[in-house]
Amino acid sequence: MKVAAPEPSSVSWHDETTVLHGDASLSIDRSVVPPIHYSATYRADTAEQFADMANTPRHPGFYTRYGNPVHKHVEAILAGLEQTETALLMASGMGAISTTILALVAKGDHVIAQRKHYMSTSKLFEEVLPRFGIESTIVDQTDTEAFAAAIRPNTRLIMVETPVNPTLSLTDLQAIGDLAKARGIITVADNTFASPLNQRPHTLGIDIVVHSATKYFGGHHDLTAGAVCCSEELAQKIWSMHITLGSVLSPMDAWLLLRGLRTLSLRMERINANALALAQWLEQHPQIENVFYPGLPSHPQHALALRQMKGFGAVIAYSLKGGFEATSRFVSSLQLATHAVSLGGVETLVVHTAAMWASTMTEAQMSTAGIEPNFVRMSVGVEHIDDLKADLGRALASL
Ligand SMILES: *Cc1c(COP(=O)(O)O)cnc(C)c1O
Repeated sequence: MKVAAPEPSSVSWHDETTVLHGDASLSIDRSVVPPIHYSATYRADTAEQFADMANTPRHPGFYTRYGNPVHKHVEAILAGLEQTETALLMASGMGAISTTILALVAKGDHVIAQRKHYMSTSKLFEEVLPRFGIESTIVDQTDTEAFAAAIRPNTRLIMVETPVNPTLSLTDLQAIGDLAKARGIITVADNTFASPLNQRPHTLGIDIVVHSATKYFGGHHDLTAGAVCCSEELAQKIWSMHITLGSVLSPMDAWLLLRGLRTLSLRMERINANALALAQWLEQHPQIENVFYPGLPSHPQHALALRQMKGFGAVIAYSLKGGFEATSRFVSSLQLATHAVSLGGVETLVVHTAAMWASTMTEAQMSTAGIEPNFVRMSVGVEHIDDLKADLGRALASL
């Protein structure tokens, strides 16, 4: 798929090119790699220039909470990938999500979100917003009619996320985009699990795309960052909340993120291929009960996955035959797959989902949330597929 290169160039590039050259027009010197601008503040030469710096929204060189030259490089690439007018970087995915939502809603507004979201996003919609007089209706993401039925005259915003934990359920982005547009409701999609290389919500009618750049964009499990991709008009609104909330990414982490982005398309190609192959392999394994992956024909929304996704990403969820104890033993006996949270990086990571929530949720609460005691979540990395199969095969055989 072709993407528009950022201003001022009007050339259309493929993603593989955008990640390398999408920020070329911002180069200020002869260095091939942009320098890290480690300055919190920037000097003006004249009173007029100072006034201009202070009063230009999102100025790249006034004060780093307002913007930093390294941020601009990353933002140009992300806007190119998501095909939005612009992008805005923050210090974490949750920084990006909470700043975006708080910038756009006010007391008396109504919002709609999914029953399943990244946990902190659920908390924002179900606990934090109601404290400020904003009502949320929580709906089943697989039921487009439920979104339509939840709309009220004061509905201001719809939040979606697809695919989502724990069973990789999907939301029909085009349907929600159409529904909201016809009524002037703003839509926000968390595209972290897919990445723009696999799914582009904005091209399907979603207004704002948010990301945990900690995951695929950084790609090396070494930084946290977040991003918002949208129109310049919305970005300025979100930015004015951003300078109040202050979820500012350090220049060093922005630079590491830029470095990570250069190989995004290479990594995604391998990740998509590895994860699909592993999902298919797991589905055939006698010790495995169920595999949840949008790329498998057995996924209940596989047809939708084929319609809105080009690849299906790193995350596979599966359940083992056996209970909590067997699953715990399985995860502990893996040698290659690393036992750690997060996703989208070069190393394969694995988590026994129920163990993660065991101290904060009862088994009944977990069951309601769809977290079964024998569930495993795996983020497949770029290792050789045969080594991954051998590792999983060994651990399953030992059960
Ligand atoms: C990780 C994640 C977040 C939060 O991102 P942080 O960078 O950890 O703040 C939000 N949404 C999804 C889908 C995620 O996977």
